[in-house]
Formats: sequence, structure tokens, C-alpha cells
Amino acid sequence: MIERDRPPQAPVDIAVIGAGVVGCAVARRFTLDGARVCVLEKAVDILDGASKGNSGILHTGFDAPVGSLEQRCIADGYAEYMEIRDRLGLPLLETGALVVAWTEAEEARLPALLDQARANGVADARLLDKAAIKAREPHLADGARAAILVPREYVIDPWAAPTAYMMQALTNGAHLMRGAGVTAGAFDGDLWRIETDAGPVLARAVINCAGLFGDRIDAMLLGDSHFTIRPRKGQFVVFDKAATALVSGIVLPTPSATTKGVVVCRTAYGNVLVGPTAEEQESRTDAATDRETLRMLIDKAATIVPALADQPVTAAYAGLRPASEEKDYRVRVEADRRYITLGGIRSTGLSAALGLARHAADLHATFAASTVPLSEPHWPRAPRLAEHAPRDWAEADNGGILCHCELVTRREVAAALTGPLAARGLGGLKRRTRVTMGRCQGFYCSAALADVTAGRLDPPMALPDRADD
Ligand SMILES: Cc1cc2nc3c(=O)[nH]c(=O)nc-3n(C[C@H](O)[C@H](O)[C@H](O)COP(=O)(O)OP(=O)(O)OC[C@H]3O[C@@H](n4cnc5c(N)ncnc54)[C@H](O)[C@@H]3O)c2cc1C
Repeated sequence: MIERDRPPQAPVDIAVIGAGVVGCAVARRFTLDGARVCVLEKAVDILDGASKGNSGILHTGFDAPVGSLEQRCIADGYAEYMEIRDRLGLPLLETGALVVAWTEAEEARLPALLDQARANGVADARLLDKAAIKAREPHLADGARAAILVPREYVIDPWAAPTAYMMQALTNGAHLMRGAGVTAGAFDGDLWRIETDAGPVLARAVINCAGLFGDRIDAMLLGDSHFTIRPRKGQFVVFDKAATALVSGIVLPTPSATTKGVVVCRTAYGNVLVGPTAEEQESRTDAATDRETLRMLIDKAATIVPALADQPVTAAYAGLRPASEEKDYRVRVEADRRYITLGGIRSTGLSAALGLARHAADLHATFAASTVPLSEPHWPRAPRLAEHAPRDWAEADNGGILCHCELVTRREVAAALTGPLAARGLGGLKRRTRVTMGRCQGFYCSAALADVTAGRLDPPMALPDRADD
């Protein structure tokens, strides 16, 4: 039985639909600006849609279309992330990225890409020759002909960041309703009445951040949608921690008109990943991986960094991009109905979320009275999961290590199960702690974890099959 949060008793200023990275950032922005905010999320936990599985790259926007809304939001989002990350305890792996040309045709495209980077304000991007490439990435295959170095393209923790945005919204007064799928709604000229699985919510304005279902929410609440979501799956393979000795940063291919292509890069958690694929599909929820594609990705990784062929694989996952029929974000403002859509946030939402939230606040100011920003907001700290930063397992009184592969302590698990943003599902607990996500995939710690989480997770934990028991 899904645990559903109750609606707020009084009308709020803003109802945010969807708690992906965009909804979390929007909730934070409006709360800090002094608005009363309620977030409506249909899943048992936040980050259950597109934001569940991405590459974890904080993009500079060097290759975004010049003059696009996407480029502006990435630049603003990047700047704000750098400004707030210390106060929220958010990690940054200062890797830089190499955009590598493997063929003559790709090499010929690099100068235009460099011009694009500069037009997008990424002035420190520069061309590297073969020797400089080898110096940065000694294990790269010999076929690299040339590359662009983008020094400020970094790796971040894709879950700690939005979790911290939502935590900051909640500790400063926002209301989160999980298990509150939006089913209908009407505007009476003054207030929206939004019907949810957990009861009705009254709000002065609505911001649709429903990701893979953004077009359907518009159709439901406005009567039509100006875009259609076309889900694009991206599968990934994760190599075990020893592989980080082979990759020092982010290795990108020369992008094509349709995709950024398959990247080999480090993760904040001390692994190396290869992916994502770009597979169009009808389903908005099916994020299954398949053997053939994973094999292809492992082979692809080995063509880029040959020694990866001998590295063990820890895990595989897939994410669904909320792509639409156009490349740029699909933003809609209905001033008369006090409604904003932040839709089609396809491949760059993790980087752009804070910028998008500011953009939404600017749009909202065109039709609503301003609020008084909080003078001294609380700054909660994000879960500390990054491999290169201090972790709880090395500190006193942590209750002991529960998950030895990812060095997760009992104190971290207990913390993730309490407070205003307590995890309510195993997925959410993993995203807050990384428990069971290491090389044994929960084989050794699941029994202990099932004990600790008894009665707290929906659904309850299923123990792994142990054929040799
Ligand atoms: C393979 C892949 C790789 C990526 N790599 C990167 C990267 O390296 N860097 C980067 O910046 N970006 C990256 N991205 C992009 C980024 O992950 C997305 O842009 C972002 O997750 C979109 O977030 P969102 O909040 O718009 O949507 P979502 O995360 O889908 O959030 C929408 C939320 O709305 C909820 N919802 C839906 N319908 C309803 C309803 N009726 N009622 C209530 N709630 C509802 C859903 O449950 C969901 O939680 C990648 C994406 C993918 C898939």
C-alpha cells in the first residue's frame, strides 16, 4: 500500500508537478524566493523518472545550439551549482572532458565545434594534438587524431544534487506529497484545484515539471499540448572501481546532429561508465537493459580505452530521456491561467535544472505578484557519497559498515530513512546511500538491510536468490 502524504490545508502559491531534478530545483527556487510551494509526485519517492539514470555530467553547454534556451539554462545552472555546492555539500570531480575525433571527417568538424563552444561562452575550450591527448588520457586507444579539451566539463553526483535541492525546499517550508499522482485539475480564474491520488490541492499557479509525462499533464490541465514526448532510452554499463586507473576524465565522441554519442567517463562514486545509447521507443516507463546492447557498449568502451576490455563490470542501467519532436526545451506560459510548462528537458536537465528554475521564476513574475525572498534560509547538507571526498565510514560512531562494497554505514542508512525526505522505496534508499549498488549488488548485505528497513519500504525488500544456500 503506497504511503501518501496529505495535501496542505491552505492554498499554496505554487503547485509543482513532478519531483525529478527539474521539479526539485523549481521547488527550491520558489521556496527561497518566499513562495508557499507544494510538490506533487506520483511515485513513492522523488527522482523516479528520467532523473533516475543519467551520466552525471555537469555540462558547460559548449555544444548546445547557440542562442537556445537550453544553452542559457545550462550556463545559468552551471554557475549556480558552482556557487551553492559548498554550502549544500555537493561534490565536484574536476575532470574536464575531451571531445575526441577518431576519423578524418570528425577531425574536420572540430574547428566548427570549437567556434560553437566559444560562441556559447566556453572560452577556455581548446584544440589538443595527439601528444597532448596522450598526456591527459594515457590509456586512450592510439587512433585518436585530435581533440577539443573542455576544461570545466565536470562530473557530479546526479542524485545528491536534486536530493539537496528538495531538502532545501522542505527545510525552508515547502510541502512534498509523494504518492500524489495528478489526475485532473481546473482553474476558476483565481485558484487551481488539482486532483491527486492523495487528495485535492489548491494553488495560485502551476508549474508542470512532469518529465516523461509533461505533454499528458498539459493535455489534462490545459486541454492540449504543444509537444509530444518521444522517450529515448540510454543504456549504460558500469565498470568496477579499479577501472578509474584507466580513465582520468570524460571522453566524448565528436557529436553528431542527433546525439552526443557514447561517452566513457568516471563517476562521482569511483567507477567508470560507458553509455548512453539513444534508442527511440514508445514506452515512457520501460527502462530495461538488454544483453546485446550491453555487449556492444563493452566492446565500444574497449575501442576507446582498450584496457577496459579486461575490467569487470559491476552493473548496468538505463535512463529514459524526455525527448520531443524538437531539440530545444518545450517551455509554455499561460499567463491567464497562471501555468508554466518546463517540458522536453531531454539530455541536459541535471546541468540546467537550477537555471531552468530561475527561468521559471522570471516567467512567473510576468503574471504574479512578487514574494519576499527568505532572508536567512537553511542550508541542509547532501548525503556524502562521492568517492574522492570524506565518507562516513571513516568517522566515529557510524554504527559499522552495512554495505562493504560501497562502504555504506548503518548511520547513513538510518539517516536516509528519517526526516522530511525519508526514503520510502529501495530505489530511493539506494539513491541516497548507494547501499547494494557495489560489485556484489546486494548479495551480502541484503539480509541485514531487510532487517534495518523492515516496515519502512514500499514494496518491502525481496532477498536475492542464493542458489548455493
Ligand atoms: C541516458 C541519459 C543520460 C543523461 N545524461 C545527463 C548528463 O550527463 N548531464 C545532464 O545534465 N543531464 C543528463 N541527462 C538528462 C537529465 O537526466 C534529464 O534532463 C532530467 O532527468 C529530466 O528531468 P525532469 O525533472 O524534467 O523529468 P523526470 O525526472 O522524469 O521527472 C518528472 C517527474 O514527474 C513525475 N510525474 C509524472 N507524471 C506525474 C503525475 N501525473 N503526477 C505527479 N507526478 C508525475 C514523475 O514520476 C517524475 O518523478 C541524461 C538523461 C538520460 C536519460
